[in-house]
Amino acid sequence: MKHEPAADSPVASNFIRSIIEEDHRSGKWNGRVETRFPPEPNGYLHIGHAKSICLNFGIARDYHGKCHLRFDDTNPEKEEQEYVDSIIESVKWLGFDWGNCMHYASDYFDKLYQFAEYLITRDKAYVDSLTADEIRDFRGTLTESGRNSPYRDRSIEENLDLFRRMKAGEFPDGTHVLRAKIDMSAPNINLRDPVIYRIRRVWHHRTGDKWCIYPMYDYTHCISDSLEKITHSLCTLEFEDHRPLYDWTLDQLSDALPCHPQQIEFARLNLTYAVMSKRKLIDLVENHLVDGWDDPRMTTLAGLRRRGYTPQSIRLFAERIGISKADSWIDMGVLEDCLREDLNERAPRRVAVLDPLKVVIDNFPENAEEDCLAPNHPQKPEWGTRTLPLTKTVYIERNDFMETPSKGYFRLSPEKEVRLRYAYIIKCTGVIKDANGEIMEIHCTYDPDTRSGTAGAETRKVKGNIHWLSAEHAGKAEVRLYDRLFAHPYPDAGGRDYKEALNPDSKHIISALVESSLDQPQPEERFQFERHGYFIADSRDSMPGKPVFNRGVTLRDSWGKSGEVR
Ligand code: ATP
Ligand code: MG
Repeated sequence: MKHEPAADSPVASNFIRSIIEEDHRSGKWNGRVETRFPPEPNGYLHIGHAKSICLNFGIARDYHGKCHLRFDDTNPEKEEQEYVDSIIESVKWLGFDWGNCMHYASDYFDKLYQFAEYLITRDKAYVDSLTADEIRDFRGTLTESGRNSPYRDRSIEENLDLFRRMKAGEFPDGTHVLRAKIDMSAPNINLRDPVIYRIRRVWHHRTGDKWCIYPMYDYTHCISDSLEKITHSLCTLEFEDHRPLYDWTLDQLSDALPCHPQQIEFARLNLTYAVMSKRKLIDLVENHLVDGWDDPRMTTLAGLRRRGYTPQSIRLFAERIGISKADSWIDMGVLEDCLREDLNERAPRRVAVLDPLKVVIDNFPENAEEDCLAPNHPQKPEWGTRTLPLTKTVYIERNDFMETPSKGYFRLSPEKEVRLRYAYIIKCTGVIKDANGEIMEIHCTYDPDTRSGTAGAETRKVKGNIHWLSAEHAGKAEVRLYDRLFAHPYPDAGGRDYKEALNPDSKHIISALVESSLDQPQPEERFQFERHGYFIADSRDSMPGKPVFNRGVTLRDSWGKSGEVR
């Protein structure tokens, strides 16, 4: 699959870019910039990750540096190859390229082990044999200092021996851990002798059963950064309190490591009407509350892609929300607007009638056919036109007719006139209903002097201008109308069960009429269906002759700006 590279669009500065520019001026890194995006392969990437990807890869691009893709795979219970593959696909799709800088933390397991032995020999790490509960208990609290483990003063020789036997598989899971020897009374709990290795007999997706001890994230991450000669290690704010441990570890190993990257924290993305934690996304998938990771209602990158989002629209979003040091919420409407903005430019216009109502034009000659010209893009004449054949029987949207029009309703109603877009003015002369009073068809007459684009069209103005399709020529399509997955702006705030906040109307599948040119769309081809919104040919289910379209977004935000619940 071909991926479009991220274009060099103008970028706004932010505090991280200021730090990098200052480093350039001071010569701190000799002009070198290397960043990394370090996902844990325990789920699909979501729109929050896209913020981090655009930041890290965007900085590397703009400062002629490199951005590494590194899988932080130290937690084998939850990690899978499927996730690795989906992450690679999503980063590429977003338009970014890591060149030859793809790494796995597991590639460093040997080195991490050697560094751990080194820490032991320097009396900076020890094997603890307390139970997990005891360790927690000894750790203390925010207001209470921790206590030293009775095993804290084991000799270097004993520690080395025990650690080697941990590695050799002599002990059951959970019996011993390796801890950094820092300070049990440190105000920052992360510095109270954090665990850096634990025994876990779990199959690893890359190293198989080679290891039965696995390093912890905090220990692994800073060393991986250094081994890859990362200059600026950008992470989200919850790691601010871990920075002293990041620096402590690298300081202890400074003789053995190539450099000491700078950890810089920024605010994670919180998006309304969405949940962002992988655990919750996994829950939605496993409980079949959505149709898989790429369900078009999911704010995973795979879901957004299937929904019709373009890489450009997501990069625009990342640019627009910026980078800051303070947590905040971004309204889902901002993301949707980015898609509208992008597709307004790039999506050709087409006509679809989603809820068809039959209209017979009584004075239109039987079997006649008139070609009406419709522009492919109203602001881009160079995109040309296509023909919409007008015949005696057409379909319009059911809600473009009202038997008893409400105030301000300017579309079709008895004895009223409306323009059939790109064609003629018609006047409603009759309504036919079935036994239940349901409207079956409308009868009209047309005025042959009012054809769009002719002088006659100017003679009479009507307010309504509705789309239509010829009954003879229209094709059928399955159309999936998606809306936001959650009906509540903060689905998981304040301990709320986000499953209760699901929007029961987030998916409607209908059979619609579409113009015949939509019969065989390319996979992922996107269109604006006039007056309805932006649609994409579904990448999985659309077949030539049996098209399936997903609605990405309506033309206007119907959710309002206030964030109120509908
Ligand atoms: P989750 O909390 O959903 O499990 P995570 O932070 O554990 O996500 P990782 O795979 O570790 O997920 O994330 C990879 C990178 O993406 C990290 O650098 C992380 O800080 C960043 N990231 C994750 N979520 C967001 C977010 N909502 N906004 C910005 N960056 C994020
Ligand atoms: Mg994480």
